[in-house]
This record gives sequence, C-alpha cells and structure tokens, in this order.
Amino acid sequence: MNERVMGYLEELTRYPDRHVGSPGNRAATGLFARVVAGFGFDTQRTEFDCIEWKYGAVELRAGDEDFEVLPGPYSLPCEVRTVLTCASTVEEIEALEAPGSVLLLGGPIAAGQVMPKNFTFYNPDSHKRIVRAIESAAPAAVIAATGRDPQMVGSQYPFPMFEDGDFDIPNAYMKDVDGELLVPFDGKEVVLRIDSTRVPTTAEHVVASKKGSIPGRIVITAHIDSRKDSPGALDNASGVATLLALAELLSDYEDGPTIELVPFNGEDNYANPGEMLWVAENEGRWDEIVLGINIDDLGMRDTVNHVSFYGCPPEIEQPVRAAMAVSPEHEGGPQWFQSDHAIFGIYGRPAIALASSDIAGFMANYAHSERDTIELADPMLIASAVRFIRDVIGRLA
Ligand SMILES: [Zn+2]
Repeated sequence: MNERVMGYLEELTRYPDRHVGSPGNRAATGLFARVVAGFGFDTQRTEFDCIEWKYGAVELRAGDEDFEVLPGPYSLPCEVRTVLTCASTVEEIEALEAPGSVLLLGGPIAAGQVMPKNFTFYNPDSHKRIVRAIESAAPAAVIAATGRDPQMVGSQYPFPMFEDGDFDIPNAYMKDVDGELLVPFDGKEVVLRIDSTRVPTTAEHVVASKKGSIPGRIVITAHIDSRKDSPGALDNASGVATLLALAELLSDYEDGPTIELVPFNGEDNYANPGEMLWVAENEGRWDEIVLGINIDDLGMRDTVNHVSFYGCPPEIEQPVRAAMAVSPEHEGGPQWFQSDHAIFGIYGRPAIALASSDIAGFMANYAHSERDTIELADPMLIASAVRFIRDVIGRLA
C-alpha cells in the first residue's frame, strides 16, 4: 500500500498548488472522482462558482520614498493618488471622515487577521465591526501594517490582515516597521497602485458513497484544496491519499453503515465553498451521521499519528481506542479545532481527527508555504492510517 499512497501523493502534488479554482484543484477533484468510482463508490459531482486570484506588484510612493507592500489575497485592483489617513483602533476608523483616502491600519487593530465576511463557522463580532467600520469609512484602499499573528498558520511576516474575495475595498499589507515610516505622511498625498485581479471561474465538489446494510453514515473527510502557492503535501494531499487508499480497502464493503468520503474543497479558501455545499446537503440529515473522521496534516516523517476525540459517546470512543491499541503508529493526541472536524461538532455529531503528532512544528515551519513538499511525507504512516480507519469502520459495524 505504501507505493500506492506515494503514487497518489505524487499525482496530487504535481501542480504548484491546488487552491480552489486552480488547474491543480480541478485535476485533484477529477483524480479523486475517477479513483473512487473505480472502487465501486457512487460519486456526486457538483460544479460551483469561485474566484481565481491573479496578482502582480504593489507600488506605494509617499514623498520621495517607495515602500515595500504586498497585495492582499483576492484584493480588487486600485490605482490612486490621494491623501493618507492612519488609524490604529476600530473607534478611530469609526470616527474617520475621509472617503477616497488610502487608509493605513497599524498597531492594535492590525494585530490579527480578520475573518472573511461570509465565513460562518467562526466570526467574532469584533471582526465584523472592523469590516463594517472600514466599509462605511469608504477609503479608496486599505494598507495593513502587520507583525506576526501567533494564531496564524506559518507565522507569516508580515501577514495579510484580509484574505477575503467578498471584501470589496482594495487592500495590501506591509511590515509593521515599514508602516511606522509611513505614519509621518498622515494627511499627505500618496500614490498607490495594486495589481491584483479576481477572475471568476468554477471548481468541483465531490461526494463519494458506498451504501451499507444498516442505517447511519460514517463520513470520512480530508480537504482537497491547498493554499495558493503551496504544494500542500501534508496539508492535505496526505489526507486525500488516505481517502483514496481507503476506498480500495472498501471496494467490497457492504456490512455496516453507509460510508461517505468527502474531499472538502475549500478548507484553505476564504469562503469554504465545498464545506458550505456539504452542510447544505446535510440539512435534516445530521442525525444519520454515526461518526465523522477528518484527516489533515497527517504523515510527517519521524512522527506518529495522533487521534483526537470530539463529542464521542463511549460506544464510539471505546472501539476507536481498541483500534488504536493494536496500531503502534496511533496515539491519543490533544484536541485542536482548525480543520473540518469542527463542522461535526457545530452540528452535534461525534468526530475524531487524525493528524501528525508534531502538528505544531508542521504549522510553524511548513504549512501554507512552498516548503510543504512530498519529502516531508512518510507513506508508511499514511498507509497505517488507512488500515486504522478500516479497522475502526469494522469495529463500528
Ligand atoms: Zn489543512
């Protein structure tokens, strides 16, 4: 099975990335649908509209100085010569009367990334208030001067304060230290050009199922998209490879609940499109779900597989722990919530998550970057996860 897993990983990481709407994303969903159909799964394929982001450089000139600025992901373009205004709190933005200016955000307000407008799974009021305040101030563009957001994967410096194709004010970001050099130009004229375009395109949401002999559904999920410009070997080609290899082990499955395999297309996208479609499909059907099993960031070399539990009653937790006891590569791990297993919790269904035991190290050093490559992956650990999940299914049946 190790070779089969490696083959899937190679195919999935053949493109520079698999972000929603990209050629690599389209190839990955096509591969998934083809492979699972070959193992006797029924596939449902749904096209949806999404945005592809194309970007170039940002030019910012104040006085005689040029500043180093990056385009906000999914930003609209902009080309202006206008006055600069600065704000460091939401109250200051709310008090602004400077429509058409370039709004520089620094200090406390730029300390963390703002959740996308239409991201429903988690969206605090404080974030919505920032977006509302900026929209009613109506600047021509926003520049966020950011440091490091410890909550953010990859500890990117600077980090984009906005990553939102539904936020229609052109935006860019720069290092906090450079932002400080820009503050003296408050009230003075600046020139800003952001080369960034939203290109409407489509992507595919796939659900594969194999009907069982008894009521209920076991849903096994792994997001198939990656961050833009990241090959996403462990985030999350390894999870998708797990689903594909599992489909083979289930090719003659019939005794037990229905098995559903879901390669979520959107975990790393601002709008979670695949997740939203799947949630809509499950309206009125949540009670059918016996267990959700989500795989993300699994299979890093020199680690083991961590299994974490979310709302599992004893009749679920015990068989899962029994399967862990006979698999040396699987250990109990701490709960974490930054992936699709959180959806099961929101809808009151039990779930487990499989991830590398060094997920913290992975997130700090590799995730969402061009460094998340196939060399990080140990196919033996992924194959072990496949056998473990097959064992769990057998015990629950
Ligand atoms: Zn992920």
